[in-house]
Amino acid sequence: MQIVSSVVAMQRLAKNWRRAGTRVGFVPTMGYLHAGHLSLVKRARQATGRAGKVVVSIYVNPTQFGPHEDLAKYPRDLKRDLKLLREVGADTVFTPSDGEMYPGQTEGYFSTYVVEGNLSQSMEGASRRTHFRGVTTVVAKLFNLVLPDVAVFGQKDFQQVAIIKRMVADLNFPVKIIVAPTLRERDGLAMSSRNKYLAAEQRAQAVILYHALQAASAAVRTKPVTAARLRSDLKQFITAAPLARLDYVEFFDPETLVPVTPVKCGSQMALAVFFGQTRLIDNARL
Ligand code: AMP
Repeated sequence: MQIVSSVVAMQRLAKNWRRAGTRVGFVPTMGYLHAGHLSLVKRARQATGRAGKVVVSIYVNPTQFGPHEDLAKYPRDLKRDLKLLREVGADTVFTPSDGEMYPGQTEGYFSTYVVEGNLSQSMEGASRRTHFRGVTTVVAKLFNLVLPDVAVFGQKDFQQVAIIKRMVADLNFPVKIIVAPTLRERDGLAMSSRNKYLAAEQRAQAVILYHALQAASAAVRTKPVTAARLRSDLKQFITAAPLARLDYVEFFDPETLVPVTPVKCGSQMALAVFFGQTRLIDNARL
């Protein structure tokens, strides 16, 4: 497994692959890998075949964190990540530094951002104002460095995938986006690098996100329910976890992300819940 940390070296490698007709699969991550990330790497391998190259990037992208968010304390363990990626058969790991990705940012040399203007206004975009601008910018940069044929993203970040797909279509990136299902812990909590922040009691109660998704599915199974009614019932439901503080719960069309009411089978639900400073997200098709 090859480890590349300079943008020039990454792009040179990618150009060589392209010239040789090698199919490239790409999985962008922020590291501190869990089984959910590794399932994306396996999916990329399926898409590229044994003759193809699977590239995983590990980069905690500063531009997608707000000024009071967890950039500085975001969990990192490169040694462990590399071991896991070697085991799962990744070919190349791209681990750039901030200086490589955003040279001269503090001096104002870096000043071009990719901004999606519609899907990024609600939910995560409303709670985290500059988040998606950072995501689209870094993913566009990574696509230009890795030159992938396919890129795999997790359904766990549902809104992110919708925005990336829109960016790829709007800006004509020659990349096929594959969406992989959310991997969960045994009790149903979606795997996330941020689960590490949770104290034991918070961790025990964090399963409330999954239970809320299940409760909403059950509620709409027999007949549609107005969004206001379902939201109010779920707010009540989530108080069963006293350490939980609901940020948002939304019901929307899975394609357009436009809010729906009444909510019915096939509607998408997403929610964000704080446990102390830790903010967890989850979503499902009801
Ligand atoms: P992150 O390292 O959090 O930026 O995530 C990198 C990629 O892994 C994104 O495409 C996520 O959607 C995906 N991912 C995160 N958690 C999971 C999970 N539990 N199951 C599947 N994919 C995931």
